[in-house]
Amino acid sequence: MKKYKILINGEWIETGKWIDVVDKYHLKPFASIAAANADLVGGAVAAADKAWREKPLTPFQRYEILMNSGEILKRRQDEVAETISQEVGKTFKEAKVEAGRVINNFIIAAEESKRIVGEIIPADAIQGNENRFCFTMRQPKGVIGCITPFNFPFNLVAHKVCPALAAGNAVVLKPASATPISSVMMCEILEEAGLPAGYINLVPGAGEEIGHALLENQDIAFYSFTGSPKVGKEIAQKTGLRQCSLELGSNSGVIVTADASLDLAVEKCLRMAMANAGQVCISVQRVLVEEKIKNDFMDLMLEKVKELKVGDPFDPETDIGPMISEKEALRTEAWVEEAARQGALVLHGGKRIKGALFEPTIIDQITSDMKMWCEEVFAPVLCVATFKEFDEALQKINDSKYGLQAGVFTSNINKALEAAKVIQTGGVIINDAPSYRVDNGPYGGIKESGIGKEGVKYAIEEMTNLKVIAVNLN
Ligand code: NAP
Repeated sequence: MKKYKILINGEWIETGKWIDVVDKYHLKPFASIAAANADLVGGAVAAADKAWREKPLTPFQRYEILMNSGEILKRRQDEVAETISQEVGKTFKEAKVEAGRVINNFIIAAEESKRIVGEIIPADAIQGNENRFCFTMRQPKGVIGCITPFNFPFNLVAHKVCPALAAGNAVVLKPASATPISSVMMCEILEEAGLPAGYINLVPGAGEEIGHALLENQDIAFYSFTGSPKVGKEIAQKTGLRQCSLELGSNSGVIVTADASLDLAVEKCLRMAMANAGQVCISVQRVLVEEKIKNDFMDLMLEKVKELKVGDPFDPETDIGPMISEKEALRTEAWVEEAARQGALVLHGGKRIKGALFEPTIIDQITSDMKMWCEEVFAPVLCVATFKEFDEALQKINDSKYGLQAGVFTSNINKALEAAKVIQTGGVIINDAPSYRVDNGPYGGIKESGIGKEGVKYAIEEMTNLKVIAVNLN
């Protein structure tokens, strides 16, 4: 079993305490990593603070480090994907895509590091401000505290670390306890690419202990969190006047109108309800189908779901790997049973197979008060309800405490644009699942899905201070 050290101020250290990391398919530890503690968090933040203040990197240096990182990752992509697959349980195919997205994120961040610009403010456009020269500049905020979830342990770390470094900040990273090893690889890659000591520090450990120590530390200027709404709310309360971005959960909805391509809608909805065993913040959970095509939609859906193979993530034939833990699979089973007791119809699946493997599940006759519909299920479960009028569908999609992304399948441009205008989410995806995300675009929810935007360019705005300079030329 391989043992991994953690990185603080450029030193790889052991701490005397180890966290076992479990292979989610075999449910046996495959690696362990040194656990940080509150003192080490203090040391990591101090090192990061010193790095960005005393060894500032020019935009060109940041560009070079991030581009080099992309090149190194190209070489290590299979090895990283193997680790992601083992620690999350997602299929190797999915893990390879995740690692590939990080190559892109390094390149996007490298390019963005050269485009952090201010603007000239025409002060004399306001009477009485003649002979004033005003401009703005963006400066690094300082130490960025990153707290990340288990489901995309490499790409969601990249979505924080890449913009933070591109903007000239330094990072203290706390990965999810279930999936910390790919973060070691992120640090190794950046180190090999030439990132100076102190710019990235890795502090794995339990959320309550290490997360708490990070939130207490007043030298962290900005927190970038992705995870559950419960922890997100706690972070918002504790950070006070310090800023944070919170990328939280969802119960993403899809509308399928009678004029849509049925094949496309079924294929995308099913694939994106089951990807990563349904553990994606923008998984397809609630599907609203126009009543007159409901039977055709369900027939095709049930035909396709039977083709899905659940099992070993390293088997190229596998479509769905295990969930993150047996506990989560049991929790999902209990939710399905509760929905069935309340009158929902389980048309396919609904059961834990063994360990953390869960059957792809299709549920019909669901009502909006059922947990399966109104809470985030975060499991390979797709729920179906119907609508008669398009307005009714829009209203049902919006009837959610979450607002991350929504999907609309229609061939009617007016309906598509009406949906884009009316749906209350951070993104509306036309003729695709709500799970579509392009890594150089803005991404983030409203309502209980969070605050702030990710996507390198947009995260850079959040992770920099906008300063105005005014010169009196009189
Ligand atoms: P989680 O339980 O909230 O954990 C996320 C991170 O927070 C982990 O590193 C966790 O550490 C840490 N943490 C736990 N308690 C903490 C505390 N009291 N203070 C500070 N940090 C604490 O979420 P998860 O189960 O890993 O991920 C699933 C959730 O993430 C879902 O709700 C999903 O929708 C959401 N998500 C959102 C997005 C998005 O972009 N909007 C993307 C992916 C996932 P430990 O691991 O040690 O507990």
